[in-house]
Amino acid sequence: MDQISPQSWASIHYSLLFSIAAAQIVVIYLLNNSTLPPRALGIYTIYFVAAALCAIAILLQMSAGTALSIDVAAIASLVTGYLLVLAIAARAEVLAGRLTLGIICLCACMSAFFLGNRSMFLLESCTIAFFCLLIMSFSIRSYTRDKNLGDAVLGFTATITFFGIAIANYLLFQSGDLQEAKTVLYALYSCAYALVFIGFLTSVLSDYQQHLIQLATEDPLTRLFNHRGLVEAVNVSLAVAARERLPTSALMVDIDHFSKVNDNFGEETGDQVIRQIAGILTRMARASDVIARIGGEEFLLILPDTSLESARILAERIRAAIDDQPLLVHRQSIHITVSLGIACTEGTVNLDNLTQAADRAMYLAKRGGRNRVASVEHKPVHITPATSRA
Ligand code: GH3
Ligand code: MG
Ligand code: MG
Repeated sequence: MDQISPQSWASIHYSLLFSIAAAQIVVIYLLNNSTLPPRALGIYTIYFVAAALCAIAILLQMSAGTALSIDVAAIASLVTGYLLVLAIAARAEVLAGRLTLGIICLCACMSAFFLGNRSMFLLESCTIAFFCLLIMSFSIRSYTRDKNLGDAVLGFTATITFFGIAIANYLLFQSGDLQEAKTVLYALYSCAYALVFIGFLTSVLSDYQQHLIQLATEDPLTRLFNHRGLVEAVNVSLAVAARERLPTSALMVDIDHFSKVNDNFGEETGDQVIRQIAGILTRMARASDVIARIGGEEFLLILPDTSLESARILAERIRAAIDDQPLLVHRQSIHITVSLGIACTEGTVNLDNLTQAADRAMYLAKRGGRNRVASVEHKPVHITPATSRA
């Protein structure tokens, strides 16, 4: 088979680049209307549109056979490389240094008007290698934070591009053949563009998967678990309780006369009250306790390795803390009380039975006058004279 000429390599590279960028623009167009648009979608859009336009311009120039005195391909690589760094920095929430990087990119592009082919090749490849180092560090930062596989793919792409550039420069120094070095870069950049496409799609899919898991297990108002999330979260501690025959307690918390809060202050304020109560429960519970919002103004806490007496102490502390300190919502002070039901079991836990027992206890507390703690032995343990003032 005849050898492929450098010109053909360039055509293959830019045709591939155009196809990838066009496919990506279609994907971005479809994602734009989604309820969860990917992070940095705007900059990614500019990046792929710029890549597609550069590829069209260079392909047109090559098919016309006009030789320009400036290295348009190098400028295209620098500009798209800079845009990719911006997109990946935005994903990593790094906003500093964008202007400096822009000035570096602009200076490198302007050099195309003054430098010869070989010097421009060196300048372009060193600048892109520098961009690769930045992309590697931003991707590592994003990956360690979100564990999104797409960021790992982008980091990997930057790593192989960095080493590929080093090999292309080594070949240039060895043989002095600029065309050969450029051909290596074309092949490398083609792979890199394809991998960026894959990395971007993977990050979008991974974000969606994460979002779906959250929707299925998390309460959107308080970010606590919902019932399903709670069942999954307590799995391990219930297995330990069964094996070690440890006590497990459940604590049901219901806000008293909550409908009055909505009626008097509006639903928005009601939502804030629910959030603040969730915050109080989170602060007062142990890290090993699992907290869920299981109804409009109802919360369930599962307390591993906790006896009924210890659960009673925690419940009483929660009740007193909420009763003692009026909540401040939109500069309005709102006095809230809660009724709590506790139940306990030892060894193997039937979560439904334990929850129902805590729920029954909570209704006892309501019937006993609210703003109190009750347990399933039908003994209200704390009778406060105050009734709800909310
Ligand atoms: P009780 O002391 O017997 O518990 O009285 P209550 O008014 O708290 O209980 P009830 O079950 O009668 O009313 C609960 C109210 O909570 C009714 C509903 O409009 C409100 N609610 C449920 N979910 C939400 C929510 O997400 N946000 C807001 N603002 N209100 C909610
Ligand atoms: Mg209520
Ligand atoms: Mg209720």
